[in-house]
Amino acid sequence: MKKDNISDAVIRRLPRYYRHLDDLHSKGVVRISSSSLGERMDITASQIRQDLSCFGEFGQQGYGYNIMELRSEIGHILGVDKGHRLILIGVGHLGHALAQNFNFSHMGFHVDTAFDISCALIGSSINGITVHSLDELDDYVYAVRPEVAVLTVPKKAAQGMADRLISLGVRGIWNFTNVELSVEDADVFVENVQFADSLLTLSYRISQK
Ligand code: ATP
Repeated sequence: MKKDNISDAVIRRLPRYYRHLDDLHSKGVVRISSSSLGERMDITASQIRQDLSCFGEFGQQGYGYNIMELRSEIGHILGVDKGHRLILIGVGHLGHALAQNFNFSHMGFHVDTAFDISCALIGSSINGITVHSLDELDDYVYAVRPEVAVLTVPKKAAQGMADRLISLGVRGIWNFTNVELSVEDADVFVENVQFADSLLTLSYRISQK
């Protein structure tokens, strides 16, 4: 598999490919041409071929792609078969909603543990995820080695918590705190989820007419 210098734009399109292929697979579709997949995703067939060529050879000229195979190849590239372990930090409204509703296992993440400082939450369980005291975080991370943390703590606690998690060896932070985290370590990745930015982009577009 070729994998050098994959652009960020290609990496950002991979989850979309995976989602569409997953949907087609669940509907029992077996094959799809790059042009039909492109129509569905509103991108060109040549863009798809170019993106996939970064990772190897997929599909057959004239036959299109076998959906199950391509879904599993892209899933493999995305790491959904790695069984990454994930923890939730902060189980307020947002953390609770994610614990309750987000299908982490479908994305290949294993999560059964959350941390919070609230006595009212410690010891409770949400959708099979048990909330532990933050005092237990270090021992847990040393023992279990989760690679990813979902950060849903208040803004004021965000950077300190990120620093603590990184010093414990966590390599990925799914950041819902609306704080632009400062991270020095090049082996640590932060994905920011900014609901407000998305809504304001929509606001801009509807305001231009
Ligand atoms: P949100 O909708 O953002 O979750 P909220 O009003 O439910 O907001 P916040 O005050 O944002 O709650 O706190 C989120 C959760 O983080 C709460 O359950 C709170 O107990 C917990 N929390 C606060 N500080 C920390 C911290 N330093 N470490 C871990 N959890 C914390």
